[in-house]
Formats: sequence, structure tokens, C-alpha cells
Amino acid sequence: MSSETRPSPVRVHILGAGPVGLLLTALLQSTERFSVHLYEKRREYTRTRMVQLASYLVADSVASYCTDYIDEESVLAVFDPREIDEGLALRQSIPSDLMTLLRGWTQGFCPLNAIERSLSDLIDARQSYPVQRTTANVAAPEAMAMLEPGDILIDCTGSRSVLRDELAPNAAAGDDCSSRALPAADGANTLQIRLEYALVITFLYGQAYDCNEHCKYIKNIDNPHYKFIPAVNRTYYDGSLTHVTGIVTISAEDYERMPSRFDGHWLRSNFPHVAESMDRFIAKIKEETNGEIVGDLEIIRIPLDLYRARNATSREWRRTGPADHPLARSLVYLAGDSAMGSPYFQSISLGFECAMFLAGLLGRRDLPLADTLDRYEFYAYQQWMRVYMRSKMIKHNKDLLVSVGNTDALLEKLHIY
Ligand SMILES: Cc1cc2nc3c(=O)[nH]c(=O)nc-3n(C[C@H](O)[C@H](O)[C@H](O)COP(=O)(O)OP(=O)(O)OC[C@H]3O[C@@H](n4cnc5c(N)ncnc54)[C@H](O)[C@@H]3O)c2cc1C
Repeated sequence: MSSETRPSPVRVHILGAGPVGLLLTALLQSTERFSVHLYEKRREYTRTRMVQLASYLVADSVASYCTDYIDEESVLAVFDPREIDEGLALRQSIPSDLMTLLRGWTQGFCPLNAIERSLSDLIDARQSYPVQRTTANVAAPEAMAMLEPGDILIDCTGSRSVLRDELAPNAAAGDDCSSRALPAADGANTLQIRLEYALVITFLYGQAYDCNEHCKYIKNIDNPHYKFIPAVNRTYYDGSLTHVTGIVTISAEDYERMPSRFDGHWLRSNFPHVAESMDRFIAKIKEETNGEIVGDLEIIRIPLDLYRARNATSREWRRTGPADHPLARSLVYLAGDSAMGSPYFQSISLGFECAMFLAGLLGRRDLPLADTLDRYEFYAYQQWMRVYMRSKMIKHNKDLLVSVGNTDALLEKLHIY
């Protein structure tokens, strides 16, 4: 097609250059169909936490996509093999520079800022379709004001999403009987379920150390409360050090009395029972492997929430809103933590998975862009079903594990029929 007859590219605004916004940018940047504008409020990437990505992100067959020791059967129940196949086929078009990065990240543990920086550098290094970047804190009215008819906006602004609660036309917060029936829910377009309050504790250990369910039980046997439960995939030996991350459940009162981030020294002075519990756990690792902790504990306290946007797109605005409203005239999608969130170290993978699907849909020339709203809504719902079931299963199993040895407590948590 000559440049005179070529349609002008569709403008895509991506709000938020965290891992998911960056991945979407890198995916959509690779085609002449879109001109991408990326907005980010942070000036540099400084988040040092280590993260792990799921291997299904780089799966190349339905069987390898489904293989998972927690929820293999749920995946087969939620997704039709043809849908998984379609998702895998869409992935074939991912440029090789990007696929190489993804493969590397699914091998082990990686600092979050290394993922962000590599994606950001890759976007900037590509010459053919440059991305326009703006450093700004974009609020919802500004985001809507910049939308012209036919524009695409993808909100990747994380758990405090800029546009999530704007996507339900005429919705009033809490004005919804389904939300009243649930343990915790908030936001005009947000369903939120609080699973627990937790300390996420990370430390480095100077020997190879691996963990399984037996280890989690045995090493906590003398801890009546505040059991430290490492996440299996979060003990990672890099050749000289093992990175260990795990969760200690705390009460809402403990949570209120703690700062958002602290170290082992602060824990010892202010919550000695939690510190003693950690010490007992670590002493048992040392007995087995004769190593030492390197440095101090790094601790953050967070509520572990499962949540989702009831509308993950502007579909409802197009159906029922005034036609001249910016959200009705353009195509808006939520991706990453903006669309849904889950605890237990799985959200980036979930966000990446949805981002790859969305980029694949938007790239399909046989599909009118407006039809992608329905497809993405359905897909986001399926991913929500998966992560909801998976997270509830992990939480339930974790609750049972901490009661092993105490038959009454264990029986109280077992509900059969
Ligand atoms: C301790 C801890 C450990 C974790 N470990 C794992 C793990 O092992 N594996 C895993 O999969 N997940 C893990 N997670 C979760 C993971 O970090 C998040 O799911 C992931 O960062 C979400 O990516 P995102 O791009 O959707 O959102 P974010 O990372 O939150 O990025 C949002 C971006 O949008 C920008 N932004 C926000 N508002 C605006 C605005 N108004 N204007 C402009 N820019 C804006 C922000 O600055 C940010 O850069 C962990 C989380 C925690 C807290």
C-alpha cells in the first residue's frame, strides 16, 4: 500500500509504565497500525523487590500451558483447549527480542526494576516505530480529555487504577446488592475480597536451601503463632545465595501498628513474638544446611486482596452512556493490576498474560476494533475465575497447613458438603 492510501495509525494511549504498561507498549509498538503514547509519573525505576514469572507465559503447547501443580484442572475447566491454542498462536507474533527477555525472566528470580528497565530500554532502542513518552501524573479527567474519537486507551496504572471506577456508567459506590453480600467490596466498578493481612518477609541465605510443604510444616512446629510460610517458587539459589520470600499472617490490629516497610531490627524491638518465630524457623534451616543469613530481613506489611474490575473495558459506556462521552467514543481497556489483582506472587504473570492477549486482539486486522471489547471482557473474566480459584485454594491450604498437629483446629477449617 502506498503511503497516500495507508490509513493513519490508531492513537494508543498507555497510562502507566510499570511492567504491564511497558510490555503492552513493546507489543503494540511493533506494528505500523498504531502510534503509541506512553505516560508515566515516576522518573526512574527503583523498585528492588525480586519477582518470579510463571512458566505458562512462554508455554508453546496446550499441555505445557496447563501444567501446574495447584490448578491444572481449573485451567482446563475455565478455558477451552481451542482458546488456549488461539492465545498461544497470538504469541507466535511476539518479536524475538521481547520473547528472549520473557524466557529469561521465567527461568528464576529477577528484580522488578530489571524487568522494567529492560523493557523500557528495548522500547527506546527500536527505531522503526518510536513511542512518544510523557512524564506526568495523569488524573482521570485529563485522561478522558485527551481522548479523540476512535482512540484507544489502556489503563495500566496498577492497583489504584486511574480509570477503573470510571468504567461503570451511572454506578454509585456500594450501590449494588452483590457487593453487600461479600466480605469486603469497594469502588463503583471494583469487587474486592480481603483474604488476610500479611508480612512479606525476604532474606538472603548463604547456602543452597529449598523448601516444600513438609519443610514448611516441620520448621514451624515450635511456632504456635506467626508461622513463616515460604512460597515454594520463592526460594531461589543463584549459585552463591538463596533468596527466600514468605508470608506471616498477622491480625488487622498488628497491621495497623506497623509501618509499611521495616527490617528485622524493628521487628525484634516491636513485635518480638514474630521475630522469635522467624528465628526458630531460620535456626532449623541452619541446622540442616550450616549456612548464615546474609544481611537483615526485609519486611513489608500488606493486605492480601483479591479484586477485579467488574467492567474491564468501556463496553458499558458504549452500550448505555451518552454517545458523546469520551469513554463511549473511544476504546478503553484495563490491564495488569488495574484490571485485577491477586496475592501470592502471581500478578505480573497474570497481567502479562492479559496484555499479550489484548495486544494480539488489537493486532488482528480481521476483527473490527470495537469487537475486541467483548472478547477482552470475556477473557479477563476467565482469567479472574482462574486466579480467584487458585488464590482461594492457596489460602485454604495455607490455613490447613498451620493447623496440622491440632486436630480440632484442623477440623474446624474443613467443610465437607
Ligand atoms: C512484595 C511483593 C512481591 C511481589 N512478587 C511478585 C512475584 O513474584 N510475581 C508476580 O507475578 N507478582 C509479584 N508481585 C506483584 C507485582 O509486583 C504487581 O502485580 C505488578 O507490579 C503489577 O504491574 P502493573 O504494571 O500492572 O502495575 P504497577 O507495577 O503498579 O505499575 C503501574 C505504573 O503506573 C504508574 N502510574 C500510576 N498512576 C499513574 C498516573 N496517574 N499517571 C501516570 N502514571 C501512573 C506507576 O508509577 C507505575 O509505574 C509482588 C508484589 C509485592 C508487593
